[in-house]
Amino acid sequence: MIGEHENDICPLCDGHLHTGTANIPFIFEDTIVVVKGVPAEICDNCHEPFLAGHATDQVMALLKQLKQLHSELSIVTYSEAAPV
Ligand SMILES: [Zn+2]
Repeated sequence: MIGEHENDICPLCDGHLHTGTANIPFIFEDTIVVVKGVPAEICDNCHEPFLAGHATDQVMALLKQLKQLHSELSIVTYSEAAPV
């Protein structure tokens, strides 16, 4: 194993990851948020999406905003331009 490019391999099944977008549900105690079109590394084998590093902060900021709405279910489209 050579380091650095560990992100190319799925940690769940060792499948190969490719770059794409995914619709990712986040399930909390009192709310469910589905974020659509999130940049992610997606496993060819088990189709598990892994958030791209730069998308994680953006998604976390989105989730924080949405939780303040006290909505039970939110479906939002990922946007790089959303205010953080
Ligand atoms: Zn996999």
